[in-house]
Amino acid sequence: MTNSSSTRVQEFIGDPLSEEPIVDRGKLEAVFNDIQADMRYDHELNGCLNCGICTATCPAAHYYDFSPREIVQLLWTENLEGIHDAMQEKIWSCAQCYTCAARCPFGNSPGGLVMIMRETAIKHGMESAKSVLRPFSRVMLKLISTGNQLAPDMITADHFPDWGPNISKVDAPLDLLRKAIPMPTLNTTKTAWEVNLKTSVELFTIWEETGVLDQLETIDENLFDVIEDFMEEKREDLEDWEEEQDDDDDE
Ligand code: SF4
Ligand code: SF4
Repeated sequence: MTNSSSTRVQEFIGDPLSEEPIVDRGKLEAVFNDIQADMRYDHELNGCLNCGICTATCPAAHYYDFSPREIVQLLWTENLEGIHDAMQEKIWSCAQCYTCAARCPFGNSPGGLVMIMRETAIKHGMESAKSVLRPFSRVMLKLISTGNQLAPDMITADHFPDWGPNISKVDAPLDLLRKAIPMPTLNTTKTAWEVNLKTSVELFTIWEETGVLDQLETIDENLFDVIEDFMEEKREDLEDWEEEQDDDDDE
C-alpha cells in the first residue's frame, strides 16, 4: 500500500504568478494524506504513461478546462499544491461516466480518483464543495426527507419550458392518472413513490452510520439541522406506530 513517505512527493513548487495566498504545507499534506488513505486509491491509480487517452475520450474535457490526464499526473507525481488547486474547481467538472477507466492502458480510473478527491474536499469543508453542492440543497432535502429526488408535482410547464409540446403530457390530470396505477405506492403526486416509514428510518440510520450526515453537516449546517429535526419526527412516528401495533396485538 502506498504511504505518505513515498519519494514522489514534490517539494514546494508554488506559482510565482498567482495572487492567491500560499496554502500552508501542513494543510496540503493533510488533504493529500486523506486522498491517499482512501481504500480505493491504490486500486484506481497504478501508474501513468501520460498518454492522454483518458482525456481524448473524456466528455468533460471536451467542454471544460479539465483533463483527467492532468488529475492523474498530479496524483501520480504527488504534486500537493497542484492537487489542492485542482480541488478548487476542476474536479467538479467530471461527469462520472468512467469512459476514462474503460480506456486507460494502466487500468487507472481517473473518474474514481476524482470521486475520492471530491469526498476529501467535502471532508475538509472546502469552499468549492460548498458552492458546487449549494444549488442541490433542495434536492438533498427532498431525497432525504421523502426517499425520492423528484415528484410529479415538481414538474410544471413553467419550470420546464425546454420540453416544448411534450410538457402537455405532465399537464394532464396526474392525480387521477396516478390513482389508476395498480401499485399503491405510486398513487400520489407528492413523491415519485411513497417510501414506507420503516424504510425511511432505516435509510436515516444508514446515512448516519456511513458518515453521509457528517459530510452534510460539514458543507451545509442549516440543511443538516433541518434534516436532523425531520429525522427525529419520523423516528417518533415510527415508535408511535409500533406501539399502536403492540396495543392492537394485545387486544
Ligand atoms: S491515466 Fe491512463 S489513459 Fe490517462 S494519461 Fe495516464 S496512462 Fe494514459
Ligand atoms: S469519469 Fe470523469 S474524467 Fe472520466 S471520462 Fe468521464 S467525465 Fe472524464
